[in-house]
Amino acid sequence: MVKTVRAVVTGATGQVAYALLPRIAAGEMFGPEVEVDLRLADIPPMIEKAKGVVMELEDGAYPLLSRVSASADRAESHHDADWVLLVGSVPRGPGMERGDLIRKNGPIFVEEGKAITAHGSKDVRVVVVGNPCNTNCLIARHSAGAKVPDDRWTALTRLDQNRARSLLAQRAKVPVRDVKKLAIWGNHSATLYPDFTNAQVAGKRATDIVDRAWLETEFIPAVQQRGAAVIAARGASSAFSAAQAIVDHVRGLVQKTPDDDWTSLAVVSDGSYGVPAGLVSSFPCRVSDRGAGNGTFEIVQGITLSDFARAKIDATIAELEREREIVKDLLAS
Ligand code: NAD
Repeated sequence: MVKTVRAVVTGATGQVAYALLPRIAAGEMFGPEVEVDLRLADIPPMIEKAKGVVMELEDGAYPLLSRVSASADRAESHHDADWVLLVGSVPRGPGMERGDLIRKNGPIFVEEGKAITAHGSKDVRVVVVGNPCNTNCLIARHSAGAKVPDDRWTALTRLDQNRARSLLAQRAKVPVRDVKKLAIWGNHSATLYPDFTNAQVAGKRATDIVDRAWLETEFIPAVQQRGAAVIAARGASSAFSAAQAIVDHVRGLVQKTPDDDWTSLAVVSDGSYGVPAGLVSSFPCRVSDRGAGNGTFEIVQGITLSDFARAKIDATIAELEREREIVKDLLAS
């Protein structure tokens, strides 16, 4: 019997969604044996435009696309949804501080949380992409309440992992596939920590292959500032690399993680590594044989953190705590 996944993409007329939707329709996210009922969601003024995107998806004649629709009504788009990819959010405008953006976007994620709990399927999985994605995920998770447990909520730090992996591979002059266990910790922001101390390059410790001073003083800021560098060069924010990361994130949740690797996911902390329980922080995660197919992951345990790594992680966690403070009224139910 052919399985069908009902997947919602919010912000469906934005540039990330435009790069993402055809890839979902082509079966790259859920695999070649899964049909997709794809629901495009956006705010009312964008629905006519969304209908144009629906037409393009129809015109692709994708064999696995069983149904495609567009709606501004969450009761319709989120009905029985298995996966909700929350991309829609207000972009950061000129002169807008990160705190302003957090306040501006927070209410969207309160509404999303309510809609997911009211209309999603009983096994619904959520991926938050819209920035600031960790704190937006915290808000939506909180607003959804107990019916949608902590382990259903993730936010996207896979783009940071992909960037880090690519930059390290270039430096080490190895193919990207030879860089493993390069996990992102903390916030998807300029404080994120790409943990090179536990990373491997061609089966050896990264620190045995690449100059440590470069890793500490050039690599970390390059990963942290990569999004800004793309904007400066392209005049627009990352789009198809973000779509690639969203595909990788979900593929990483529905497939077993290779034994020699980890996948970075921002998830609701259970207190592991001293990250306060309830914060949405990126950790190295794994999906076991048992979890494959249904999106169940575990935070990798037993990783040794040096004083250097610990200090970097503490700094990004402190930022997440400050963000939680900024939105505390949205968490007060
Ligand atoms: P975009 O401006 O092209 O599109 C934004 C989308 O959100 C549009 O569809 C718009 O209609 C919708 N939108 C606007 N106001 C809204 C509201 N009040 N409620 C719901 N939806 C609303 O932006 P984009 O480049 O597609 O990026 C989308 C989001 O993804 C941004 O927040 C961006 O920062 C974030 N992003 C995150 C990562 C990551 O790694 N986590 C990577 C890339 C982009």
